[in-house]
Amino acid sequence: MTVMAMTATGQESGNIRQQDNFDYVVDQFADLQILRYQVPDFENLSLQRKQLLFHLSEAALMGRDILYDQNCRYNLPIRRTLEAIYMSYKGNRKDVQFTALETYLKRVWFANGIHHHYAEDKFTADFTIEFFKSCVSQLAPEQLPLREGQTVGQFLEEIIPVIFDSAVLSKRTVQSGDADLILASANNYYSGGITQEEVEDFYAGMKAGKDTITPISYGLNSRLVKENGKIVEKVWKVGGLYSAAIEKIVSELRKAVPFAENKVQKAIIERLIEYYQTGDLKIFDAYSILWVEDTVSDVDFVNGFIETYGDPLGMKASWESTVNFINKEATKRTKVISGNAQWFEDHSPVDSRFKKEKVKGVSAKVITVAMLGGDCYPATPIGINLPNADWIRRDHGSKSVTIENITEAYDKASQGNGFNEEFVWSDVEREGMKKYGFITDNLHTDLHECLGHGSGKLLPDTDPDALKAYSSTLEEARADLFGLYYLGDAKLVELGLVPDAEAYKAEYYKYIMNGLMTQLVRIELGKNIEEAHMRNRQLIARWVYEKGKNDNVIELKKRDGKTYVVVNDYEKLRNLFGALLAEVQRIKSEGDYSAGKMLVEDYGVRVDSVLHAEVLKRYAGLKLAPYKGFVNPVMREVKDNRGNVTDIVLDYTEGYAEQMLRYSKDYSFLPSYNN
Ligand code: ZN
Repeated sequence: MTVMAMTATGQESGNIRQQDNFDYVVDQFADLQILRYQVPDFENLSLQRKQLLFHLSEAALMGRDILYDQNCRYNLPIRRTLEAIYMSYKGNRKDVQFTALETYLKRVWFANGIHHHYAEDKFTADFTIEFFKSCVSQLAPEQLPLREGQTVGQFLEEIIPVIFDSAVLSKRTVQSGDADLILASANNYYSGGITQEEVEDFYAGMKAGKDTITPISYGLNSRLVKENGKIVEKVWKVGGLYSAAIEKIVSELRKAVPFAENKVQKAIIERLIEYYQTGDLKIFDAYSILWVEDTVSDVDFVNGFIETYGDPLGMKASWESTVNFINKEATKRTKVISGNAQWFEDHSPVDSRFKKEKVKGVSAKVITVAMLGGDCYPATPIGINLPNADWIRRDHGSKSVTIENITEAYDKASQGNGFNEEFVWSDVEREGMKKYGFITDNLHTDLHECLGHGSGKLLPDTDPDALKAYSSTLEEARADLFGLYYLGDAKLVELGLVPDAEAYKAEYYKYIMNGLMTQLVRIELGKNIEEAHMRNRQLIARWVYEKGKNDNVIELKKRDGKTYVVVNDYEKLRNLFGALLAEVQRIKSEGDYSAGKMLVEDYGVRVDSVLHAEVLKRYAGLKLAPYKGFVNPVMREVKDNRGNVTDIVLDYTEGYAEQMLRYSKDYSFLPSYNN
């Protein structure tokens, strides 16, 4: 599970850190801003660790095409066509038609496909069909991703509606509503016209009579296909679907093995290789257990089919990778939190039937990422908690990380951008956010990841998939609420995690302002909220706003025609967070689908259109981009004249388009169409 950065802009941190001369902002277009992150202390690592990081980083880039194909079956042919045009276009590159195509391509790179990475809708192309046709006609047929025997004319006929007709493949993942969620989604996790009912029946049949105590993650690493009336799983593995890319990942993992820090880490990488070779989900579980129990290695990584946010049924995982090493200084903070995990579990406001009697090894650390790939790139989480399998978390614990070189880049890039001046009620709140914001923001992420996701338990007979399409949103809400509830607890002052008993108010204010108002800058007028983290944030903010109305806990006040959030009673707000946490935990523990559905649909999905329009207008005046992503550093081996590696160095000068084109050239292994 992941945490994405909460606000549209990050947090202003005032004078906490010195400004440095690093250039954080790389590019801005559409609703996106591209940043660059630093990898502090990389140069001080041993050569062995650097070489380990290097090969894991190569493996992190090898799977890029997999995600494109998972997101939609036309993503690879469209990316390749646009890149071919982009590189060989001979006309005026300042022309409005060309710049519109360039922006569209930059958005495709960012989203790893033709649908918005957060909103799920297909992008609108602002260049004309005629312009596109004329560009394609100037390419040689071998520059185009033609199917076997396909003419250029047939290719255009097939591809043009996918780019230009908003009704075709309109939404990547449909998470709710009355439609058949599988048929309505444009993603490529299911194909051949298979219906939601057929998918549900297939997996119910597969689970029937099987182990429910330590179940494998059914369907995690495959596409489910209906072919000639038969339903089959096509497994993503060496020799299966996406083999060409997975073989490259495996080959880099092999190169990493000799540089492992210790035997356990060596075994972890070898297990992962075995899993990629067999596709066997039992081996994936064995790998996950080894991985979660390794808390001594400095270098760590995620590489695989991990998060299931993109599947409306929450089973199939997108491919992702992060490569990182520990930030020992900042990890002291998370050590304190995880060291007190049992105390937090025991004192939480949830029903004791749903609490863990014994919290298993919550390991938490602050990390520095050195490479991002797949579904963590360019849009990247600021916190990660894995593994996702409930029973492994129950029996072996989970590993939770806060990615501080990413939160730092967000923070630095947002300083002085005018956002808080526009949306925050008064100087009191603004000063609080300045003074405490960076600390409480990171702490909320720590608590969310390291305690929130790991807290609570399911009743023995509860199906872990019972909440279906609502599970991601409710799981994020559970983790956020756990963090919010404890941010306001005197225990945090006692533990020295916050400077005083006022600090939590900064995060509470920001959370409510974001959930009720400012996160709407990410949504187009007239649209609902789709993404799980955003639904969760509105759900929480709306619920406490409604339930606190009688006590006037939160107000939406008007001043000069502008709406502001005012929090009148922070203590009562904390109690409301606790009450909602208890209810969400009950829903999860009992698998109460209908209550979960109601909570999400009533509070998390629909948008107040008048307020939405106002927020968009005010935000537009600031000329900011609501979504951010990152370019990676370039990692290079330095060799002596006999070819021995003497160092690994990082270069921070690569541009956005430059990096994307290099990846498409050097890390692209899949055919355009993968069946
Ligand atoms: Zn989370």
